[in-house]
Amino acid sequence: MDSYSLPYTFSQRAQKLTSSTIREILKVTERPEIISFAGGLPSPKGFPVEVINKAFDRVLQNSGMSALQYGPTEGYAPLRAWVAEDLSKDGANVTPDEVLIVSGSQQALDMLGKLFIDPGSNVLVEAPSYLGALQSFSLFEPNYVAVPTDEGGLIPEALTAERAAGARFIYALPNFQNPTGLTLSLERRQALVERCAALQVPIIEDDPYGELRYAGQAQPGLLGLGRKAGATVIRLGTFSKVLAPGLRLGYIVAPKPIVSKLVQIKQATDLHTATLTQMAVYEVVKDGFLATHLPKVRDLYKEQCGYMLDAMDQHFPDTVSWTRPEGGMFIWVNLPAHIDGSQLLARAIERNVAFVPGAPFYAGPNPQANTLRLSFVTVSEEKIREGIAILGKLIKES
Ligand code: PMP
Repeated sequence: MDSYSLPYTFSQRAQKLTSSTIREILKVTERPEIISFAGGLPSPKGFPVEVINKAFDRVLQNSGMSALQYGPTEGYAPLRAWVAEDLSKDGANVTPDEVLIVSGSQQALDMLGKLFIDPGSNVLVEAPSYLGALQSFSLFEPNYVAVPTDEGGLIPEALTAERAAGARFIYALPNFQNPTGLTLSLERRQALVERCAALQVPIIEDDPYGELRYAGQAQPGLLGLGRKAGATVIRLGTFSKVLAPGLRLGYIVAPKPIVSKLVQIKQATDLHTATLTQMAVYEVVKDGFLATHLPKVRDLYKEQCGYMLDAMDQHFPDTVSWTRPEGGMFIWVNLPAHIDGSQLLARAIERNVAFVPGAPFYAGPNPQANTLRLSFVTVSEEKIREGIAILGKLIKES
């Protein structure tokens, strides 16, 4: 309905909002007959339901009064200390007062938009980048400056003084990027933090998938490297992919002046993250549960990824190329230049297969329409093989 015919007036900000392509697609994919490679959902097989259940029970039994009370905006102190210690393993030397607990890293993206972006502010994003971040930042009306990527991910040399001029921050996903699945090499990480230090551009490092590495060598985070190089790094983490996204629990690590401002913003947003959830998750992780749990999740994701790569090797023509992720949940596909991902999707849905076309992931002026993202973690081996065979056939017919 045209908002002008309504008996109320939305803000201009709200009037500019459009539904995300992914949400529209997900509506279709709810039909049970659809083989969906579209969603970004973690596998529920990796949710430790029993362990989380017991943790909530223990917290309510032993500390019910405080677990149900309002808490500090910064977060539950023992959980902040746990996050600080966990990230310090990487050599970053994080202190608890540099940690702010949030309701999922998506909230962190919204808060950082509020903190840094004025209408027209330059913001550097990888091309392509995480759609949810673009959605969050867009509410504050930035001017996106796309940083080119290649098969090794973000190209640090592309971060020229001209491109970075006046940028409020660069938003980067160094591990198994959403949407490409690509990982930055140590050399590129080092070059990126050095450039950002020299150009005085803060880095927002979003790393929801770092713990889900099932191949290759773990690389140090931008937080530790950046601190050594004199760059400002704001690191986002989440329990969504290592425990469960329904918990809505994540964290921001940043220099204290940034944390202080973010605390004011969070206060205005929701006062604080759910006390009960913070205490229960601390109860789950405090004695090293993740060390036994994560290998199972990694094995599961590795197996799923293998099924999809194997099926793609078998069914996709030579004119198509794709990434081979070392972790995370996504494979990125480059189609021949004449095939548009959205048009392919329309035909795929007729055959009951769904994926996300690549163009919406590009914030800059030149979206590459001949791309698409495949998510492999929630579909059975049989359905992966069936769905990929159908896609391969459709691509060949194009
Ligand atoms: N950043 C990236 C790159 C993501 O893929 C996601 C989840 N899809 C998020 C942030 C948001 O995660 P959370 O559940 O912590 O809000």
